[in-house]
Amino acid sequence: MQNLLDLDAQQLTAWFAEQGEKPFRARQVLRWVYKAGEPDFDAMSDLAVSLRDRLKQVACVQPPKVIRKELSDDGTCKWLLDVGTGNAVEAVYIPEADRGTLCVSTQAGCALDCAFCSTGKQGFNRNLSTAEIIGQLWWANHELGKDQEGNWQISNVVLMGMGEPLLNLDNTVNALRLMLDDHAYGLSRRRVTVSTSGIVPAIDRLRDECPVALAVSLHAPNDGLRDELVPVNRKYPLKELMAACRRYLEKAPRDFITFEYVLLEGVNDSEQQARELVRLVRDVPCKFNLIPFNPFPEAKFRRSGPDIIQRFRDVLMQADIVTTRRKTRGGDIAAACGQLAGQVRDKTRRTGMHSVGIL
Ligand code: SAH
Ligand code: SF4
Repeated sequence: MQNLLDLDAQQLTAWFAEQGEKPFRARQVLRWVYKAGEPDFDAMSDLAVSLRDRLKQVACVQPPKVIRKELSDDGTCKWLLDVGTGNAVEAVYIPEADRGTLCVSTQAGCALDCAFCSTGKQGFNRNLSTAEIIGQLWWANHELGKDQEGNWQISNVVLMGMGEPLLNLDNTVNALRLMLDDHAYGLSRRRVTVSTSGIVPAIDRLRDECPVALAVSLHAPNDGLRDELVPVNRKYPLKELMAACRRYLEKAPRDFITFEYVLLEGVNDSEQQARELVRLVRDVPCKFNLIPFNPFPEAKFRRSGPDIIQRFRDVLMQADIVTTRRKTRGGDIAAACGQLAGQVRDKTRRTGMHSVGIL
C-alpha cells in the first residue's frame, strides 16, 4: 500500500507513470489531497471510476493517528500523534491575529541533547517519514478547517517541534516541497521556517535543495559556553556556523537569519554576553528572537527575569539588531518551545559526546 503523503509532486508523478497513468493525474490527486483535504479516492470526482477503484487497492492517504488533543486557554492547540512502536510526537497550532502557525516535529526525540531541552532529555528513536511530517499539517488543516475566504487556517509552518530537521534532511525536504508546491499547499517560502541547532553541511544542502526561511538556535556567544549548552557545537563550531549562515543568505527567501536564543538565568544572559553576541554576528544580517526558558520537570535552569531580558535586548537593539521577545504560548498544556516531549523510546543510551558521535 503506497501512502501518497510520502511522495512529493515529482515522486507522485513517477508513481503514476509506473501505474501507466499520465502526469496530470498526479496534479489532480495532489489538489484533492492537499487543497481539498480529501483522503477518500471515491470523492475525487474528476478521476475515472476505474482509476479510483485501482487507487483504493494500491494506495492510501494516511496521516499519523491522533492519541490526544489539548486546547490551551490562549487558543493554542496541541496534538499527540502516534508514529508507531510506542513513539508519539507533538504538533502545536498557535493562532494569532494575522496568521495561524503550525509547529511541526521532524523526529521522534532528538539525539543532540541540548542541556535545556525537554525533547533532548527524552533521547532519540527515529526519523519521521515524509508522510509523518506533512501528515501533521494535513491533520491540523483537516481539524481546523478553512477561513471565510476558503483558505486553510494555517498560513505559516515552523519546523521547531521535536527533533532536528537537518538530521532528517531528505524527508524534511520532501515535506517542505509539498508545503510550497502550488498544487499542494502553495505556501510562500517566507512563511515556512526551518529551525536548526546548526548542522553545517545540511544548512548548505537545504540552501541548494529547498531554501526556506532559516532560524538558527544560538544560545551562547562563544564556543566554550555553546559546547556545554548545544553539544553539537563541538562538531560544528561558531565560526563555521556563521560562515554557513552567510552562504545560506545567498539563496534564502529572506535577507536575514533569525537567531534563537533561550535566556537562562545566570548562564547566558549578562550584558557582557550580549555585547559578545553582537561581535559574533557582526557579518551576518540577522534578527534575534529571545526565548524565555520554559521549564520542564527535570530542568536544572531557571528563566531570566523580565528586567534581565530587557537589558539583554537593549544591547542588541543598540547595535541595530532587530530583537523580539517570543511570547510564551500554550504553557499550560506544555506546548511551549522546548516542552514538547511526546513519547520516545530512546535507542541511543547516550553519555556526553556519544550523541554527537551518531551523526
Ligand atoms: N532542533 C531544532 C528545532 C527544534 S527546537 C533546534 O534546536 O533549533 C526549537 C526551539 O526551541 C529551539 O530554538 C530550541 O533551542 C528551543 N528550546 C528548546 N528547549 C527550550 C526550553 N526549555 N525553553 C525554551 N526554548 C527551548
Ligand atoms: Fe534537539 Fe533542538 Fe532540543 Fe537541541 S533544542 S535537543 S537540537 S530539539
